[in-house]
Amino acid sequence: MHRCMQMPQPLKTDLQAKAVVRASTSLLKVSADVQKLYSDPYIKNRKGIFEYILGGSVDTKLLDIRVFDEATKKLVYAAQTGQAQTNEESNCPLCALGHDANKHKIWKLAEMDADHVAAWSKGGATALKNCQMLCKTHNRAKGNK
Ligand SMILES: [Zn+2]
Repeated sequence: MHRCMQMPQPLKTDLQAKAVVRASTSLLKVSADVQKLYSDPYIKNRKGIFEYILGGSVDTKLLDIRVFDEATKKLVYAAQTGQAQTNEESNCPLCALGHDANKHKIWKLAEMDADHVAAWSKGGATALKNCQMLCKTHNRAKGNK
């Protein structure tokens, strides 16, 4: 009697089957998320995408994102506005340099946009120290880098 014919593997328990389904579902989700992030032009560090997703999609530093987050904008806005009020000039540094009515204008946060001091396209980081708030007009004039 030869024993070369192996018996088929015993059926997986229901629990195991469910775990397999769960694993492949989350793999599908991961690859969909990766696809989405890969096609996002605002993400600079593509190599960080997998690490970001596998880490639960929380550590955005891994992505080196091209847009400033709200917390950064608020911090920079508050610092700039405080400084501007002390100097009695506009909190948009470019308006403050000008000679028109906006020279002393204090813009609201919603009227301003974050700008990369060193252009993002030239390797300027999306980090607090590379962020300045400009009024929307000046931000547009500077070009959306
Ligand atoms: Zn301005």
